[in-house]
Amino acid sequence: MKPDCMILRLGELTLKGRNRKRFEKSVLNQIKKVLAAFPNMRYIPEYGRVYVELGGAPYEEVSVALLKVFGLASFSPAYHTELTLETIQERALTMMQDLPQQPATFKVSVRRVNKSFPHDSQRMNYLVGGYVLQACPGLQVDVRNPEMELRVELREEKALLYVEVMEGAGGFPLGTSGRALLLLSGGIDSPVAGWLAMRKGLELEAIHFYSYPYTSERAKEKVIELAKQLAGYTSSIRLHLVPFTEVQTSIHRAYQDNLLVTLIRRAMYRIAEKVADREGLEALVSGESLGQVASQTLPSLNVIGRVVTIPILQPLIMMDKQEIVRTAEKIGTFPISILPYEDCCSLFLPPSPSTNPNLRMVEKLENSMAFLPELIEQAVQQTETIEIVHDREKANVEQHLF
Ligand code: ATP
Ligand code: MG
Repeated sequence: MKPDCMILRLGELTLKGRNRKRFEKSVLNQIKKVLAAFPNMRYIPEYGRVYVELGGAPYEEVSVALLKVFGLASFSPAYHTELTLETIQERALTMMQDLPQQPATFKVSVRRVNKSFPHDSQRMNYLVGGYVLQACPGLQVDVRNPEMELRVELREEKALLYVEVMEGAGGFPLGTSGRALLLLSGGIDSPVAGWLAMRKGLELEAIHFYSYPYTSERAKEKVIELAKQLAGYTSSIRLHLVPFTEVQTSIHRAYQDNLLVTLIRRAMYRIAEKVADREGLEALVSGESLGQVASQTLPSLNVIGRVVTIPILQPLIMMDKQEIVRTAEKIGTFPISILPYEDCCSLFLPPSPSTNPNLRMVEKLENSMAFLPELIEQAVQQTETIEIVHDREKANVEQHLF
């Protein structure tokens, strides 16, 4: 027996009125987009939920696709039956017997939408629960903390039964919080930062700095793979590739001491801000986590962040590495991130990068580098933009050069 229907619960219960309508409409659009490969589905939106008639689509594949929808709180595979007591009882029992393992305790929760059904919900809890109990020896009812809850909805024409509730991605539908620019390296952290930002409703473009020939073509391809993985949550992501060699080597030629990383990261942020402004993006998103490395101590973050006025969002700032890795595994970026690569940030590292840089000192150094503004402007001009398209059916990338 396979589920023929699914119940999707749309998230963020605090939203009301017009906002809620807009929210639900965008989530539904995204649901239809990720399920476009299954044309026979029927969508029936209701307040806070969507009923989906599967039309023969395999619910396992549908579930995997649904995990990519932000704004979807949870979902349940469900079974239709005729609207009679006997068929509901029979189906409830089959569902219980089909479970991989029988729970010790359970309860039945009936919701009667169709008020013409002869038994009210209390009575139905008793009638369905009692029927299952007498057929399953050892099973007990626990109404307060059951191991399993069997839900029954008595709808206008049919009854709907389900036991499983799967957690969705949650958050806000894509694009409902504005647009931002993700600083995407080939590491573990920044793709996770990007995913968290998207989950909060931000539509992303990404920027990557490379220092060819110090960083290889392979490193760039890896970043494209990561962007492609993130694009699975929307449909496409624009990726800005910044040639950073000139900026980096020129700073290094002028200065090699412990503030080098600070100087290079400030140059990166400057370029990112200019690209964001040009593209009408309202914030930068990056993958710093407090205390992880020298450039991510509070004084470093302070001195680096002050070089721009655009807000810098750092979703991982308070997260442990373990939590970050777990999320990376969940969203499928981890196996790509751990492939070997060189990041431009790890080039020309001084023996002891400063964990406590001094802003005045850094500004003084920058002022002595007269070449810097022009090289930064040049890097912005030479930035190449490609579009990473996630093809759901073929699951590979197409790139369109601008
Ligand atoms: P990640 O795992 O994301 O590379 P990290 O812990 O290695 O992060 P850093 O190398 O200090 O930390 O980089 C901090 C943040 O700066 C990254 O999370 C990313 O947002 C950004 N960043 C670093 N290198 C690049 C790059 N080459 N291109 C774009 N952004 C970068
Ligand atoms: Mg890195």
